[in-house]
Amino acid sequence: MKKTFQKNTISKKHTQDYRQYFALNRNTAGFDLKTKELLYTLVCDKSDGAFVYDIDNNKYIDLTMGFGCILFGHNYNPLRKEIELQLTKSWSVGPISPLAGKLAKKISTVTKTERVAFFNSGTEAIMVALRIAKAVTKKKKIVFFKGSYHGTFDSLLTLKKNSATNVAKESIPGVTQSILNESYLFEYGTEESLTFIKENRDTIAAVLVEPVQSRNPALQPLSYLQELRFVTEENNIALIFDEVITGFRIGLGGCQEHFNIRADIVTYGKVIGGGLPIGVVAGKSKFLDALDGGFWQYGDDSFPMVKSTFVAGTFCHHPLAMATSLRTLEILNTSNGKLLHKLNRITTNFCARMNAFFIENGFKLSIVHFGSLFRFHAPGRSKKIYHQLLLNGVYIWEGRNCFLSLAHTAEIITLLEEKIKTSCMQLVDNGIIKTNS
Ligand code: PLP
Repeated sequence: MKKTFQKNTISKKHTQDYRQYFALNRNTAGFDLKTKELLYTLVCDKSDGAFVYDIDNNKYIDLTMGFGCILFGHNYNPLRKEIELQLTKSWSVGPISPLAGKLAKKISTVTKTERVAFFNSGTEAIMVALRIAKAVTKKKKIVFFKGSYHGTFDSLLTLKKNSATNVAKESIPGVTQSILNESYLFEYGTEESLTFIKENRDTIAAVLVEPVQSRNPALQPLSYLQELRFVTEENNIALIFDEVITGFRIGLGGCQEHFNIRADIVTYGKVIGGGLPIGVVAGKSKFLDALDGGFWQYGDDSFPMVKSTFVAGTFCHHPLAMATSLRTLEILNTSNGKLLHKLNRITTNFCARMNAFFIENGFKLSIVHFGSLFRFHAPGRSKKIYHQLLLNGVYIWEGRNCFLSLAHTAEIITLLEEKIKTSCMQLVDNGIIKTNS
């Protein structure tokens, strides 16, 4: 305990000094009176490669990697240069940046989607995806699944449902029942959900899935997704893939390519922004046309034939985000996706070695992964691993999704593995956890 105070004294003091003014729920996540001294968010003012540095001057191997948006490593020179160059041209919004159209075309080509639109975050992309699904199908209800995370759009903010009707149920202050009444909630991958969708096809506008849920990456339900595609297609229901995490990670074409399933609408974010804020809605013209009326051209009598819904945003297509996004795509494209596959292989091997260590030494821990995303499965007191890792110089944020990046070299991964092993042993030595052996 003493070591905690010494190591993060300034981060803790900073948190305390500003708590009165700065309302930040991350500083209260999982509050427990018994362990409140361990509850503070790391405050960092420097990051480079695979490392972050806190204001106490500690260096950490970063496994948070900007919640998964930093693929090449922090302060990656080609992206920094792109930002610097763009700053000399314009970082203003108002007129459309020439980069936006270019980026839309490139994303459309790489992801094999017909049209693309830009927003500021994954949450915003999800909100828009649901809106256009309702506008086009002229239906009201949406289906989503337990275990998924789609950001903070109100219609998706609950983990509870009415078991008789399957209607999502109010559970978070401020997210009222009336806003959830158009949302149905199911266990992911179940036959029950497919039957329900078929039976309620006349009212369901969209089914929204994180094809592989970041909170449960071991579940990769190919046949369920195939069945879901069939059922939604048959019944004029939009299938929305939320690829904010899996997009440009599992491969250039994301889960659509990985599972060989074409969704109607796909959302992207994180990696494709190159570290700057972005949300992308891509997909079939049938749906994206609801944003602008569809294709028309000059010099003839064509016109926007589709009735549009409304979307807007001051910072959509921000030139800095367009610039880093284009560069990100260019780098990934040049390698033909090989960089992603290499990183995914590295992650698979890392997870396999750690799981072998946990089993050999009787720890109740394990690691599950999909692409370069991984999570510890840490039941009971073994949850203390996160704080022990922090003490040993490994940073994992409160939501516990971990990511390896291309800056995590073989040497850094070896060091990381040593730190994980040491942390486990220390938890045993301190009497916090017991092994099976
Ligand atoms: N969808 C998924 C799968 C996510 O993981 C997240 C964020 O972690 C979001 C949507 C929301 O994205 P943002 O935080 O950019 O709003």
